[in-house]
Amino acid sequence: MKNLKRLFFIMCAVFILAGCKEKVPEEESLKVQEEQEAEEEKLRKEKEEQEKIKKQKEEEERKKQEEEERLKAEEEERARAEEEARKKPQIVVLDPGHSAVVAEGSEPLGPGSQEYKSADAAGTRGISSGVPEYELTLTVSLQLKAELESRGYTVLMTRETNDVPISCIQRADVANNAGASAYVRIHANGSENQSARGAMTICTTPQSPYAPELYTASRQLSDCILGKFCEATGCISENVWETDSMSGNNWSQVPVTIVEMGYMTNPEEDMLMQTPEYQAQIVQGIANGIEAFFGY
Ligand SMILES: [Zn+2]
Repeated sequence: MKNLKRLFFIMCAVFILAGCKEKVPEEESLKVQEEQEAEEEKLRKEKEEQEKIKKQKEEEERKKQEEEERLKAEEEERARAEEEARKKPQIVVLDPGHSAVVAEGSEPLGPGSQEYKSADAAGTRGISSGVPEYELTLTVSLQLKAELESRGYTVLMTRETNDVPISCIQRADVANNAGASAYVRIHANGSENQSARGAMTICTTPQSPYAPELYTASRQLSDCILGKFCEATGCISENVWETDSMSGNNWSQVPVTIVEMGYMTNPEEDMLMQTPEYQAQIVQGIANGIEAFFGY
């Protein structure tokens, strides 16, 4: 009996030990597994968080880019509108008087006229400078073109070089075909009297047999340019000469004037007109006169 009891205890102890032996590694592996899972979960969460931050950054970047593009488009639109507003609807045609190669033949004095005049004239020449009128008129006209363009006008020229023969009708047709708002003909005066000096403008008369309806506008253009010209240059103002003897004016279907900038036969005025400083004043004066005519 005693032995049986002992055996029973021994067996119990063996069972308990066996149970513990099996149980210990199982618990440990579970714990490791849990720890691994926890670690994996932590990594997954970190990765998710990183992904989230990355997406947020990308979204922010995209929004920033969109905003930049929107601002750029706005800026471009504003610049375009400003450029559009700066552009004036008027077309100005400039006619630098005469040419080194004078157009041959003759032309009617005006539309329907039986009277004929030379197609063009040689013009005068600087008594001191020796510079021909056609050269001075082109020099000034090119500067005036640039000035008017900078003020937003569309400018066309009847000639841009000195070696083109061009008649008075051909010159007027440049303005007519362009539908110009003003046709401004640039000349310098000549006189047998060397003391003659000052500026004048020339337009048609109210009784013009060619285009009397243009008189008021042409007279206004002539007044505006002469006034502003003398204001800018300090030049003596002669007068606005109204005459229907100028073919180039008679053939014009748009408001027209001739600007006689000064006398090339006056030694002092001749030399003055050759200086860049005075030419700049001339350009400002004529441009201001054209603007005043348009009401700007
Ligand atoms: Zn002339």
